[in-house]
Amino acid sequence: MTFTDAASSTPVAQLEEQIRPLPKVSLHDHLDGSLRATTLIELAGTIGHALPAEDPEELQRVFRRNAASGDLVQYLQAFEHTTAVMQTAENLRRIAREYVEDLAADGVLYAEVRWAPEQHLTGGLSLDDAVEAVQAGLNEGAESVAEADGVIVIGQILSAMRQHDRAPEIAELALRHRDAGVVGFDIAGPEQGFPPVNFAPAFTILAEAMFPTTVHAGEAAGIDSIRDALVSGRAQRLGHGVRIAEDITVTTGDDSRSKTGEGEEQLVEVELGHIARWVRDRQIHLEISPTSNLQTGAIATFAEGTPTPTLVDHPFDMLYQLGFNVGVNTDNRLVSGVTLSGELAALADAFDYSLAELADFQVNALESSFLGYEERETLTAVLLEAWQ
Ligand SMILES: [Zn+2]
Repeated sequence: MTFTDAASSTPVAQLEEQIRPLPKVSLHDHLDGSLRATTLIELAGTIGHALPAEDPEELQRVFRRNAASGDLVQYLQAFEHTTAVMQTAENLRRIAREYVEDLAADGVLYAEVRWAPEQHLTGGLSLDDAVEAVQAGLNEGAESVAEADGVIVIGQILSAMRQHDRAPEIAELALRHRDAGVVGFDIAGPEQGFPPVNFAPAFTILAEAMFPTTVHAGEAAGIDSIRDALVSGRAQRLGHGVRIAEDITVTTGDDSRSKTGEGEEQLVEVELGHIARWVRDRQIHLEISPTSNLQTGAIATFAEGTPTPTLVDHPFDMLYQLGFNVGVNTDNRLVSGVTLSGELAALADAFDYSLAELADFQVNALESSFLGYEERETLTAVLLEAWQ
């Protein structure tokens, strides 16, 4: 969801401006889906890579249109263009630096940026070179934010691509850089047909090394994928995980006990399956990306019967009300055409959330982050003070 100049005076846009300076937490945002359009165009020009549009706004429109096609595979096509310009240390470093600056400008206090090093080797970089280049850019970005009296703390999550078979190598790579900026491991790419169990050896390497994982699950595939992420992936968090809603049965009926006849209330019965119960009771954090979930069709089954689902059809609020540990994310800021402040404002508009509730989502995310306990507590105090 983006807001044009004409819409800048709408209540949602005003709320977005109110939210922007408040400290926020971003746990699920892909580096290769969140470049500046201007940078993508400039770098594509230097290597002769043809883009679907040469004007930044037009390019964003094309990406958003493809993203909104409701098909994950089409959604992923934009990444062929972005990764094309991310094959040298210099470009990775610049893109990582700008990434940090852009998040800081949106008020992000703590971020985990995910990306797949194996997608960035065609220019001759090694996996380690690529991770170091991104880390150098993240450090530069954090320094430039600090110079402007801002604060941002950021860690890398290394993703292994599900359609390839380099996961054990990426797991070892993450461990080599665990004391130099890498905080977690993920599997990304097509969920359908590439279940977490395929990557069990990598997850075992990580589990034995006491290294945390988050797994994309419950986006393009259903609850079996979530179960597998938790079992084979030992996932401490779920990337999206929205299709956990399919393991929740909600039945409504008239309240037959109502004797007065006035203000008859609807009885709502909610039944959680074993997987939903596990995710809620163990407080497994759900890295929810509302707009992306609409665009990829992740909530289509849940919103069955709604021809064009909008945010109000998203199970986010039901999950929140039922006590699930939910956070709000952007997934791919360029590709989906979103910002974290914009996503929060849109959610608040859809579900009538107060600022205190939006702050809850930030605390949920921070407490579920892969940051160490002491740092987490320090940042939580900073965050709460600003939101109160
Ligand atoms: Zn993702």
